[in-house]
Amino acid sequence: MHDDRTLVESRLKRVLDERIRPAVYPESVPLEVGIWTAPGEPVPVAEGLAAPRAPIAVGDAWGAPWGTSWITVTGTVPEAWAGRTVEALIDLGFDANMPGFQCEGLVYRPDGTPVKGLNPQNQWVRIAAPAAGGEQVLLHVEAAANPVILDYHPFLPTELGDKETAGDRPQYKLARMDLAVFDETVWQLVLDLEVLGELMAELPVEGARRWELLRAIERALDAVDLQDVNGTAAAARSELAGVLAAPAVPSAHRISAIGHAHIDSAWLWPLRETVRKVARTTANMTALLEDEPDFLYTMSQAQQFAWIKEHRPEVYARVRKAVAEGRFVPAGGMWVESDTNMPSSEAMARQFVHGKRFFLDEFGVENHEAWLPDTFGFTGGLPQIIRNAGSKWLLTQKISWSQVNTFPHHTFLWEGIDGTRIFTHFPPVDTYNCSMKGSEIAHAARNFKDKGVARHSLAPTGWGDGGGGTTREMVAKAARLRDLEGSATVRWEKPAEFFAKAEAEYPNPPVWVGELYLELHRATLTSQAKTKQGNRRSENLLREAELWCATATLRTGAEYPYEQLDRIWKTVLLHQFHDILPGSSIAWVHREAEATYAALAEELGDLIRSAQRALAGDHRGEHELVFNAAPHPRSGVAAGGAAVPTPAEVGCTVAERPEGGYLLRNGLLDVVVDADGLIASAVEVASGRETVAPGTRANLLQLHPDFPNMWDAWDVDQFYRNTVTDLTGVDSLTVFAETAEKVSVRVVRSFGSSTAVQTLTLRAGEQRLDIETLVDWHETEKFLKAAFPLDVHTERYAAETQFGHLYRPTHTNTSWDAAKFEACNHRFVHFDEPGWGVALVTASTYGHDVTRTVRDTDGGTTTTVRFSLLRAPRFPDPKTDQGLHRFRHALVPGAAIGDAVREGYRIGLPERRVTGTAERVAPLVELDHDALVVSAVKLADDRSGDLVVRVYEASGGRVRGRLTTSFPLADAVPCDLLERPWGGTRGEVTVADGAVRLALRPFELVTLRLRAAG
Ligand SMILES: [Zn+2]
Repeated sequence: MHDDRTLVESRLKRVLDERIRPAVYPESVPLEVGIWTAPGEPVPVAEGLAAPRAPIAVGDAWGAPWGTSWITVTGTVPEAWAGRTVEALIDLGFDANMPGFQCEGLVYRPDGTPVKGLNPQNQWVRIAAPAAGGEQVLLHVEAAANPVILDYHPFLPTELGDKETAGDRPQYKLARMDLAVFDETVWQLVLDLEVLGELMAELPVEGARRWELLRAIERALDAVDLQDVNGTAAAARSELAGVLAAPAVPSAHRISAIGHAHIDSAWLWPLRETVRKVARTTANMTALLEDEPDFLYTMSQAQQFAWIKEHRPEVYARVRKAVAEGRFVPAGGMWVESDTNMPSSEAMARQFVHGKRFFLDEFGVENHEAWLPDTFGFTGGLPQIIRNAGSKWLLTQKISWSQVNTFPHHTFLWEGIDGTRIFTHFPPVDTYNCSMKGSEIAHAARNFKDKGVARHSLAPTGWGDGGGGTTREMVAKAARLRDLEGSATVRWEKPAEFFAKAEAEYPNPPVWVGELYLELHRATLTSQAKTKQGNRRSENLLREAELWCATATLRTGAEYPYEQLDRIWKTVLLHQFHDILPGSSIAWVHREAEATYAALAEELGDLIRSAQRALAGDHRGEHELVFNAAPHPRSGVAAGGAAVPTPAEVGCTVAERPEGGYLLRNGLLDVVVDADGLIASAVEVASGRETVAPGTRANLLQLHPDFPNMWDAWDVDQFYRNTVTDLTGVDSLTVFAETAEKVSVRVVRSFGSSTAVQTLTLRAGEQRLDIETLVDWHETEKFLKAAFPLDVHTERYAAETQFGHLYRPTHTNTSWDAAKFEACNHRFVHFDEPGWGVALVTASTYGHDVTRTVRDTDGGTTTTVRFSLLRAPRFPDPKTDQGLHRFRHALVPGAAIGDAVREGYRIGLPERRVTGTAERVAPLVELDHDALVVSAVKLADDRSGDLVVRVYEASGGRVRGRLTTSFPLADAVPCDLLERPWGGTRGEVTVADGAVRLALRPFELVTLRLRAAG
């Protein structure tokens, strides 16, 4: 037979595009349209409904960037349409390729009840089926003129990302505002042909099935009268019935589809717009659930549920009903889909606490899966946190975005730094926005790496990023793919149903140990430095506030600010969303984030000050107390307590060197700052060991060009390192402080349009060189790093993460090692040889890189760590990071890992001095081992008055120790993160003699609920 394949395929495309799809709506009449544009920010629904309308016509422009217009459509269903299905078609000026990335609308009835959302892939509103004829139509659309930020020429700088700079040029033109007859038979024919045509394109040309589909499609096209598509569609469909009824082969891949709309809580839109995005999508999805009995929908991020509850109660009522019916499924059990690299131990834990608790309180539902499809990498600390939250599964798709290495599994056990294993699934469909296209379904089946031992994968299905969700077309396609020869099978299933099946069929999945590093978006560890500092500061202040408020409540009866802390935590958790904390949002988002963090700092500062005042007594007292919120004693002050500090014994000196520069000494360290203001030497006095590699100088600021190939705020591409400028020029080098307590030198440098002022300080009694860096940053597309070349020979180094640290190689042996050329640390990185080590700690930076070289001079190894300070990408915020910044780092020669942990806490938790009448405030709890580190001290969220203490083993070893309390202890109960009694603790927790004996394994965390006697 002659091969006419391409001829029939081309025919299918043209006839579908030009004849059949247009026949879905064979008749239409125009609607009357009126518009009112709100003068500023969005207005309440009642106000929008009541505002006077001005006439507007199809083709007219509307919508200044970020503006809201209320559009009213009116009309009458023609009498001739009686018995037909009638829909309104509302095209606000949509581009079909951009659902969620441009204008959107929410349709209301005249009484203010929401109907459904409008987006480029969802422009219809059902009016009547069947119509009586003569129905009056009156609908209102709250239309948001969100501008397109990520354009067809993506990553070009734009001023549209902030309403303050976006201007007022209308962005859209009304395109179609009609009442139309909907021909369901033609619509079904379109979907038959799409499903079969898309499947056909994926099948092997050598196989019979492909040709059977081709011939059936040809017969169907022959049956269509192009002058009467509506009259012949049924005949065409009957030609396809046979091939649509052929069942899938027994070994077919099985896809669990779940309705889904990834909604970024802020990104190319501000937080306030996400509130409305969620309302539009959930209005749509609850409507779709009512129309489609097999369909199931899932939504993550408790924050988004909380937003609709507060702002669109009518939509929330529909969500609640669908949740109760088990068809709208809360997923993930986190407050938001956060970044996981940067949040602190406690913050990561609280993401789950607040997310799960919201779903439990609102719906009585507990999730067992963590749902993070789009997050930029996963830390080795996360498995234990997931387990301690009472969950056991993880879903993400993002690792498929890695640029270099292909991850070897789709279903596997993921083992964290403490040994906790979590059953994990990466959907092989490689998208969290599946639209049931044949290419996607075939890709999932082909791509699935666990074939032969497993058969199930999951496909989150619906338009996402900016919302939108599943369409009726996707549901119709899924129905055809339920059991279709040549295709994977598709069933709507809840995430928990999928995981249970996947786990049951795969009892011995492969294991991946350590972090799930995303080989992309590495610059999200640095971009928008102020957002990152706001996060770290808030996390630290929350620790202090909980500790001192709990202490004040138990000691003085002061009221514990439950509600305030709950609200502040939720705000901090929201800002850890995977486009806010990573710095990848528009200027508006980051401008607001800075203001929010500043307000939180003030509020938390007030809480801390009033608790400390209550504990210290009258401010006219004679004692100057130091409050120590860090988990280790300092200056003679117990951890978690307050006392008059013991002064350090050996004083500090600074001396000018004949060759220029200064020698700083404090009896513990001798530090040479040379004439260029660089650290030429840092010797630990006790061991005589030099820290700085021979022939190098430390604290060297280095500037690179930084213009990635795409994703400017997200990415740094490896070639940035090919060009570097060492900033060695000195404007001035002076002694800044010279007392017995501390000595400082200050170096000022200018470069480009910027300046850097660095102050290097030694303090009495501290084996640590503090480095403060002020940068007035006015560069574009540059990357600023601070380099510390160390005389340490090691194959690996430690970087702090949640509840412990992980090791990364210092070499680039494999493509996996080489791809980690920019990585995340929390408060420290640590390098050691047996018997001696050095730590670098940081108050607020996360990105760093580590390289090694072997010296020609002496054959020794130089291991260089560089903290990433600032970038200056121009998309999506054209002015990213411009202005004044302050960083604090410290070099700690002679540090063991425990010293690194201790100094990491100290840099973020400065001493607070308070004058009062009390001589001492005893800590509520004390631990007798340095490696047992308190992560939180707080009152139980259930307001029982119990004290909750979270402790973890921080050294990576096994520890036995005792926790004692300064109040009579009745009971200590191991709990999960939600403070519920929990038997999952693997170490030992026993109460004896009024104290708690703890035996913890490496990096193990334990949450204790302590009850006071009497
Ligand atoms: Zn996202």
